[in-house]
Amino acid sequence: MALINSQFLKVSQDAVEQEIEKRVKVFALLNPKAEFIRLDSGDVTLPLMPSVIDAMLASVHEMSKDSTFKGRGPIRGYPFLIDAIVRGDFRSRGIKMAADEVFVNEGTKQDVASIGDILCKDNRIGVLDPIFQTYIESNVVGYRAGILEKDKHWSNIVYLTATREKNFIPELPTERPDVIFLNYPNDPTGVTLTKSELAQWVSYAIENKVLVLFDATYEAFISDPDAPHSIYEIKSARKVAIEFRSFSKSAGFTGLHCGYTVIPKEVKGYSIYSGRNIFLNDLWQRRQTIKNNAPSYIIQRAAEALYSEQGKKEVKQNVDYYMTNASMLRAALDAAGLKYSGGVNAPYIWVRSPWNSSWKFFEKLFSDCHILSSPGERFGPSGEGYVRLSAFANQNQVMLASSRLAEFKF
Ligand SMILES: *Cc1c(COP(=O)(O)O)cnc(C)c1O
Repeated sequence: MALINSQFLKVSQDAVEQEIEKRVKVFALLNPKAEFIRLDSGDVTLPLMPSVIDAMLASVHEMSKDSTFKGRGPIRGYPFLIDAIVRGDFRSRGIKMAADEVFVNEGTKQDVASIGDILCKDNRIGVLDPIFQTYIESNVVGYRAGILEKDKHWSNIVYLTATREKNFIPELPTERPDVIFLNYPNDPTGVTLTKSELAQWVSYAIENKVLVLFDATYEAFISDPDAPHSIYEIKSARKVAIEFRSFSKSAGFTGLHCGYTVIPKEVKGYSIYSGRNIFLNDLWQRRQTIKNNAPSYIIQRAAEALYSEQGKKEVKQNVDYYMTNASMLRAALDAAGLKYSGGVNAPYIWVRSPWNSSWKFFEKLFSDCHILSSPGERFGPSGEGYVRLSAFANQNQVMLASSRLAEFKF
């Protein structure tokens, strides 16, 4: 019989999801008439925008003709999309970027979870806490996390704890990790860094030879002019940082799956085997050749359309819709006297439980307001005492939720 990778049995995130679903079922049984509002989701709700639909329809027609049919495309993605990305997301912000530094993918999650393929198992990983759990769990199944301790921390992971006293921005590590995952604007706290704060992380990484894995999935939601959209706004980041971008949240691509990973040519790792420094861009190219294909032609044409004048306008409308939801929720939380962060540069609001217990707060929001939130435990040990509200919801429902929330008593 084949032996399994038992690490998969050690990831517990399913447990929180199952607990939420169980409570939803019980609630629905007991309150068959109640209309509850889901503000727990990290998935988008608006339909695809016209420029995306047009591009997809046109490319489906191309696929139907001998002369324009496309089979398997380039491993790194089609040049038309990569050029649009380089011009639209980097050169437009004065950032130097070459086409062969971009790898188009089927969304950030898969690359964030797979980047470990090109890194040795002995690396120590640093993560923000609270955080999107894929960063941790992909390293648990990749044998990098050590053992799970009683306090729910993995022994070989360096947790960079975000506390409310420091506005949820962690201090630089006192214990050096080899690799750090950063995610700004942040899911779940909704906060982001200023350019000078991010520059401190980059300097730390250069001085300590740490690889930075920067998840910029939510950059399109930034409204603060001082907040960096890309880690490469800090020039020296080209030496130490890989950046992950996604069309999932900004353009509603969670059902289409498209994003990209940037690996500048300067970023290096070390080979124990040869004693040499190796360029990670080359190594990732090898990994992609073995394991991956870029998304379909149709999806890549859809992504390209986001960079047209019309596409840019529609992305902005999309983002504005969700950020209007976020500001309604913030106003309601203010009215109720609840403490929170986020909702300004990210579609998430991180709300402090008046009882310091996430589950108690979750229960009260559910029973008193019929609002479904995400208990903080979903995002790691430091999530206890908070819930995350998501602005990814229908606006009428958010209006209703806000009026209930404004009356919330604790
Ligand atoms: C939603 C989310 C992703 C997932 O992105 P996909 O491109 O849909 O895979 C990545 N990172 C964070 C922090 C997210 O919240």
